[in-house]
Amino acid sequence: MRIRRLKLSGFKSFVDPAELVIEPGLTGIVGPNGCGKSNLLEAIRWVMGEASSKSLRGSGMEDVIFAGTTTRPARDFAEVAMLLDQPGGGGDEIREAEIVRRIERGAGSAYRIDGRDVRQKDVALLFADAATGAHSPALVSQGRIGAIIAAKPTDRRAMLEEAAGIAGLHVRRRDAELK
Ligand code: ATP
Ligand code: MG
Repeated sequence: MRIRRLKLSGFKSFVDPAELVIEPGLTGIVGPNGCGKSNLLEAIRWVMGEASSKSLRGSGMEDVIFAGTTTRPARDFAEVAMLLDQPGGGGDEIREAEIVRRIERGAGSAYRIDGRDVRQKDVALLFADAATGAHSPALVSQGRIGAIIAAKPTDRRAMLEEAAGIAGLHVRRRDAELK
């Protein structure tokens, strides 16, 4: 699975619509302190279904919406769209998918996959089956390296399961048990 493009609007400091095309190979994002580098990583985690506002450095989920500055009023929604390449039916086939998450003040989050309204769980399953997602060990937030090293064995096991690609099976098993 490869992220091809991110579109942000009203998400944290990205008040105006912004588009980031990610070419194959290594991409580096550089800029002065406070310019929004960490906000970009948080946008990736958020559109993948992150449910904890704390891990997005907020106290409530609406904190991801542009809060306004002395010169610009606050926005009333935030939206992130992520275009992905993912393995298709078989062989080397690649399929495109676009996941969109939008939050409006007082109305919570809504998700779409390729223009269809879906549940948070559908987005979680899409990423769990690809052994990635908002809690993928591949997404390392600023200052978290030390926390990973100091993790409890059970937490480290969860990280290894995610990395090994079996976390998706747990999601499906929980789902089956609830039915
Ligand atoms: P550093 O190099 O220090 O790690 P950074 O490039 O990672 O910096 P971020 O932490 O991504 O910077 O961005 C921080 C900026 O985003 C701050 O100026 C903060 O005010 C702004 N910001 C965060 N949330 C919002 C919001 N909801 N509305 C407006 N601005 C926001
Ligand atoms: Mg940062």
